Amino acid sequence: MSLCRLEKVSKNYEMGEVVCPLNKVSLTVEKGDFLAVEGPSGTGKSTLLYIMSGLLMPSGGEVFLNDHNLHSLADRKVTELRRDLIGFVFQETNLFQALTVEGNLRFAQSVGKGKKPDEAKIALFLEELGLSARRSFLPSQLSVGQRRRLIIARALINDPQLVLADEPTNDLDEIWAGKVMGLLAGVIQRGGAVVMVTHNSHWAACANRRYLMQEGRLVMNDKA
Ligand code: ADP
Ligand code: MG
Repeated sequence: MSLCRLEKVSKNYEMGEVVCPLNKVSLTVEKGDFLAVEGPSGTGKSTLLYIMSGLLMPSGGEVFLNDHNLHSLADRKVTELRRDLIGFVFQETNLFQALTVEGNLRFAQSVGKGKKPDEAKIALFLEELGLSARRSFLPSQLSVGQRRRLIIARALINDPQLVLADEPTNDLDEIWAGKVMGLLAGVIQRGGAVVMVTHNSHWAACANRRYLMQEGRLVMNDKA
């Protein structure tokens, strides 16, 4: 069983001119995989992650999460599947601006599950990502690096099997970037999988498979 599978996925955006960032991309992600996707900006890397998560539907081709074809599921089911399976590290900040640091983590833990937040786990993530002293701050009161770390904590707090991380080390210094890479490696160690988009070839070298986005295609980056 694969966690995520793309079969000949294409995506066109029509904004006056047609932009075609993905052209028949096929990819399988299984437990234990650590994939890096590199490539210049504007080549469709974020689009690829959005499609893998079911946040965006492709213009052509099929997407499977846990072997369920997303085209055969109602939107509500896709949302549930994503919630149960995936932790998404967004490239752009989309934190809840009216909630504090710990409020954002509580919300991530409880949403759709009707569960009470696990305060001990929240404290652990705050500690690991250096946010304990900022737990009552609003996202707007954080530095960009602190916000990035909160986005990462939110993506990982439910122990997702599949982590889709869009430039997770952006805005982070070498030490914090290394810690974040350690957390992503931890996802692999507990049997999950990671797909990481990055501009940083040093961190891309941590992956088991490296790809390059090139003219709408995902090509193996063996030479790196
Ligand atoms: P990357 O993450 O590699 O920088 P993106 O996936 O964000 O690339 O974007 C790929 C291309 O698709 C770009 O040319 C971008 O302008 C275009 N694009 C992305 N999102 C949209 C959208 N919502 N509407 C129209 N065009 C878009
Ligand atoms: Mg991007």
